[in-house]
Amino acid sequence: MKNSKKLIAGMSVVTGLLLILTIVLMFTIGPWKKASTKTSDVRAPRKTSEKNTEDPDEDPDATDSQSQGEALISGSEWTASDEDPWDDPETTEPSEITEETEEPTSETEDTTEESTEETTEETTEETTAEPTPEPETSSEPEPTREPGNSGGSYDLSGMVIVIDPGHQRHANSDQEPVAPWSDETKAKVSAGTSGVATGRPEYEVVLEIGLRMRDTLEAMGATVIMTRTSNDVDLSNIERANIAVENNADVFLRLHCDSSDNSSARGIGVFVCSRGDLADSQVKWGDWLGNCLADATGSNYRGCNASTTYSGLNWATSVPSFLLEMGFMSNEDDDWLLSDPDYQQKICNGVAAFCSKMKNR
Ligand SMILES: [Zn+2]
Repeated sequence: MKNSKKLIAGMSVVTGLLLILTIVLMFTIGPWKKASTKTSDVRAPRKTSEKNTEDPDEDPDATDSQSQGEALISGSEWTASDEDPWDDPETTEPSEITEETEEPTSETEDTTEESTEETTEETTEETTAEPTPEPETSSEPEPTREPGNSGGSYDLSGMVIVIDPGHQRHANSDQEPVAPWSDETKAKVSAGTSGVATGRPEYEVVLEIGLRMRDTLEAMGATVIMTRTSNDVDLSNIERANIAVENNADVFLRLHCDSSDNSSARGIGVFVCSRGDLADSQVKWGDWLGNCLADATGSNYRGCNASTTYSGLNWATSVPSFLLEMGFMSNEDDDWLLSDPDYQQKICNGVAAFCSKMKNR
């Protein structure tokens, strides 16, 4: 009897201990489970913020407010290939963009539709406050550039600047050699593109900007020679180049507007010749021009491309020569801007800043 009583007492002690152990385990395992679900919750938003930081790397130049829908191609990417990423502004327009240019834009394009409808400030606030998935890419190109901040006056006295507003009312498909060193021929002058929103022809817009540019540069002391002051001319690309060469231009500036099948493509591009005595400096100067324009307008600079594609540049390698694509008439926003007098003046201010840089180089 005594033994069985002891046994029962012993067993109840063991049962008690087991019970306590179970309770302790329940308390310790419970919170651990909770903690593990918490870490997986944290992981989800981190993904979206990782995605955001990737975008600026893709678009190191995308710093202005107007490049929201358009990613940029760095100058180095371009010059690496001899293939012209854009179509020839002297011949066929509207131009196609090659895959090379389309690929980097696709990321930002996705968010373009949403972003254009919102004000830029709103998007920025949202981004900094919380990692919401949508508007990040659109806010990333924003803040660094202040449009119109280079409207200062420069002393351009002693400079000879030849401005060639591209195209003319009627194209001339007669052929002329594409370069002094080439048997290949090309149309003397093409019709150019037209605005998707304004409906205006390129030849008209570039002349309007060209005349304003002449007035701006002359007011700063430069001697400005226009290849044309009317749309009703018949001037081949070689004839235009000859005007720059004969006048020994300090700057020969060919004014064009771009066009693309990708309606979100926008911004400023510069083309130079990759041959001739000045070839080593042309890309550097081209970047000066593009960056001066970007600073003055707030638009994005897409880079400088050197090639032997353009007869108007190939025939003027003895002087610093630039084909300037001032914006895309295939993009509604760019198209409106190109016909806006305030924006046109910003372009002219950017060119003045560039000419000053060329004078003092
Ligand atoms: Zn053109």
